[in-house]
Amino acid sequence: MVSDLEQEVQKRRTFAIISHPDAGKTTITEQFLLASHVIRAAGTVKGKKSGKFAQSDWMEIEKKRGISVTSTVLEFNYHDCKINLLDTPGHEDFSEDTYRTLSAVDSAVMVIDSAKGIEAQTKKLFQVTKQRGIPLFTFMNKLDREGRSPMDLVDEIENTLGIEGYPMNWPIGMGKNFRGVYNIAAQNVELNLPNNKVEVISLKDGIPDDPMFKEPIFEEAFSEVELLREAGNSFDPEKIAAGLQTPVFFGSALTNFGVKTFLDEFVKMAPSPADHQSVEGEEIKPTKSEFSAFVFKIQANMNPHHRDRIAFVRICSGEFDKGMEVLNERSGKQLKLNSSTVNPTGENEQVEKAVAGDIIGLFDNGNYQIGDTIHSGKQKLEFPKLPTFTPELFCRVRAKNVMKQKSYHKGVNQLVSEGSVQLFTEVSTGDYILGAVGQLQFEVFTFRMENEYNSEIELVPMGQRIARWIDSDNVDEHDSSSRNILVKDIYGEYLFLFENNFALRWYNDKHPDVKLVEKI
Ligand code: GDP
Repeated sequence: MVSDLEQEVQKRRTFAIISHPDAGKTTITEQFLLASHVIRAAGTVKGKKSGKFAQSDWMEIEKKRGISVTSTVLEFNYHDCKINLLDTPGHEDFSEDTYRTLSAVDSAVMVIDSAKGIEAQTKKLFQVTKQRGIPLFTFMNKLDREGRSPMDLVDEIENTLGIEGYPMNWPIGMGKNFRGVYNIAAQNVELNLPNNKVEVISLKDGIPDDPMFKEPIFEEAFSEVELLREAGNSFDPEKIAAGLQTPVFFGSALTNFGVKTFLDEFVKMAPSPADHQSVEGEEIKPTKSEFSAFVFKIQANMNPHHRDRIAFVRICSGEFDKGMEVLNERSGKQLKLNSSTVNPTGENEQVEKAVAGDIIGLFDNGNYQIGDTIHSGKQKLEFPKLPTFTPELFCRVRAKNVMKQKSYHKGVNQLVSEGSVQLFTEVSTGDYILGAVGQLQFEVFTFRMENEYNSEIELVPMGQRIARWIDSDNVDEHDSSSRNILVKDIYGEYLFLFENNFALRWYNDKHPDVKLVEKI
């Protein structure tokens, strides 16, 4: 017999969208919400910019820059599924949170602007999903505009990302002549008619005797589909499950063409919550009755009236009940869980119940760190540490007021342990250096130091550097120079911050035996 928990878990689809800014992530998200009747009018999600959904004072940065600093969870029901869509900030100033969010999902959707193909940020985020081996679904967007040829776009997936692309449907024309798509498995044509109307015509019994299908644009699409059938990749569910093949859908988020088809297929093909392996090597099944979860993001001061933080956790097994007691494995502390979650309109809403696959936000007054495991079982349980990412931007940091060292150190240590930025110490001087993957992290850090720790700081930008870890056996402290600064991370491991590729190559040539390691 299938238990209630099993039934609930089966319904969950927890995913994030990876894309480059402007590819259409917000637009397609909005279409998802419209399709599931969460919102009634387009434009609601972007309404964030109007200030209507501003949640706190420190989000001033967000308002000023008109971007989303935080990863929010959108929850909605679609058909029989409960969807948890984790938002990943789309601005080029994205942060480590964006990467960490991908640790909490079971699959990802890649939205690509069909005129631009795979862009830099998509590629970076893809590296994380690839490392995790989770399924990836692709939506080739903006077919209502002239873009690159569909063959070219599918080839690029293979050449640039090193995974197979499997077209689920094939566009018939594009731009002003975007006539629709041919759904390959269903063998039907979905026609893109004026006024956002759609008509589906089955081709199962052959191509209907309609002059439209003799038009060159249709004939070309049909012959390309034929070519794909003969010479293309074959559909392989195992490869899809391992993230080695991505189903590709074509459409236009703006005109809402192909989005519903995509969502319908996505909920069928995307996995329900996966098992999570513990450090002890146990496979924790989502249906295990004991509750377990890990913290993947900590966000400060969402509510201006309380200085609480919110720790976002991904539930890996069991069921959350408001008020339940759990153990934080790292600190050994027993904690009572009260919760809040963020719904699409940005209002805090109390969660009473949630199951494996869901994301909940827990009020936190200093009990959680990124990567913490919490659980209700009696046995020791710990999920692996979340991956850290190679920072690309660096700043030297010091307190403006030397008399306020105590609050400065407290703030730096707390914010670093939350994963707000990475901290390094220069070996030769003992100076602090901050590292980040996006400029925004420094801005948030400065703001929070001042507002939460009353510590004004001075940041001296060092610009982009290439960070490479080295084995401590190979450390020669005299090797440090302005072109390759030797620093230690918070775990005491050594790395060089190279000024540029030239400095990296120069060092490599001089020290061929030293292995230089990059994180993701
Ligand atoms: P995000 O930065 O990825 O969230 O991108 P947005 O969803 O904000 O879209 C960026 C711009 O592209 C906006 O002006 C959208 O209206 C536009 N856009 C999004 N999807 C489409 C589409 O399918 N066709 C066209 N022509 N424009 C689109």
